[in-house]
Amino acid sequence: MPAEISGTATAPRVEASTRILVVDDHEDNIEVLKVRLESWGYLTASAYNGADALRYVESTPPDLILLDVMMPEMDGNEVARRIKANTALPFIPIIMQTALDSTDSKVEGLEAGADDYITKPIDFAELKARLRSMLRIKRLQEALEEREKELLEVNQRLTYMSQTDALTGLDNRRHLNERIDEMFSHAKRLNEPFSLVMCDLDKFKSVNDTYGHQAGDEVLKQLSAILKEEAREIDRVGRYGGEEFMLLLPGTVLDAAVTFAERVRKRIEGHTFTFPGGTLTRTSSFGVAGWPHPKIEQCDDLVRTADDALYVAKETGRNKVVRFDGHEFNAHQASQDANAPARPDFGASEPGAAVPGT
Ligand code: GH3
Ligand code: MG
Ligand code: MG
Repeated sequence: MPAEISGTATAPRVEASTRILVVDDHEDNIEVLKVRLESWGYLTASAYNGADALRYVESTPPDLILLDVMMPEMDGNEVARRIKANTALPFIPIIMQTALDSTDSKVEGLEAGADDYITKPIDFAELKARLRSMLRIKRLQEALEEREKELLEVNQRLTYMSQTDALTGLDNRRHLNERIDEMFSHAKRLNEPFSLVMCDLDKFKSVNDTYGHQAGDEVLKQLSAILKEEAREIDRVGRYGGEEFMLLLPGTVLDAAVTFAERVRKRIEGHTFTFPGGTLTRTSSFGVAGWPHPKIEQCDDLVRTADDALYVAKETGRNKVVRFDGHEFNAHQASQDANAPARPDFGASEPGAAVPGT
């Protein structure tokens, strides 16, 4: 016989929405319990065997189950065991009704997953108290779960905020540094190539100076969107500093990274940035480094050499892509070595980044 649900409209309102499933193979027992529970204001449902009880619990989890131990086919202990093993279900207190007032049978029921028990013939005052106590625990448990959910959400939000640049939604510098470590170690472990591209808008300061900071922000957002669009799913795009961006390209050899940077450079050059009150165009400069290479041993080398290459791109006219081991780079490094020991720092580049020995 399928599980049935009923309740009384005239019952006291206190427990009005609390639904109790009564499971018993004897119809008379069920009737007596239902009448009593409904007089206390609970909604009730009933099942005459274990299989029906399980089906009902899975489709409409009740707030509490009053479960008879002795039933043919599937006994109450087995029903309790299955319900408690189902992790998709919320916490549903189970009060076992046992005719056997023996310690062994109570222990077995509790071990099967019952939360409390009551002996037959049922003392209704005791039943009422046990129900209330179990429902109190359920409410506490629910409040705890709700708090845990909230905490998890807050935590996820905080993690996101600590890793994300607020203006562009890209990885921030700290997160980028973590990702380089991770991705570079991974590349080395698998002996796969790995490239790093630094991108910096040319003469960006004049955007702010001419059109205002908000226009500058808008340009940065649009540039971020372009970089995101051009990158593959597996690449990481981040904002390394003010108007300096970093792209991490796993599984990409230096030549391919240079080709990629060149494509992005052209796209930026051809893009019209729009902002309230105007439009503008800008070029950008790129520095590209890649592993494997004799000069690159650790990820700091990768960042430093890409940054150095970007510096050379700026120094030699902007709107270009410079690779860290290319002719232009080496020639510039050689002339730098001959003339000046240090170079000025580009905004977000690592302080103290020295010109590498060639
Ligand atoms: P270069 O071609 O040599 O890269 O010149 P540049 O003007 O682009 O570079 P510079 O480092 O001289 O100036 C960068 C400017 O970027 C200065 C700073 O005010 C601006 N900036 C940094 N962060 C932001 C931001 O979040 N929003 C806006 N609007 N401007 C920013
Ligand atoms: Mg710039
Ligand atoms: Mg800069």
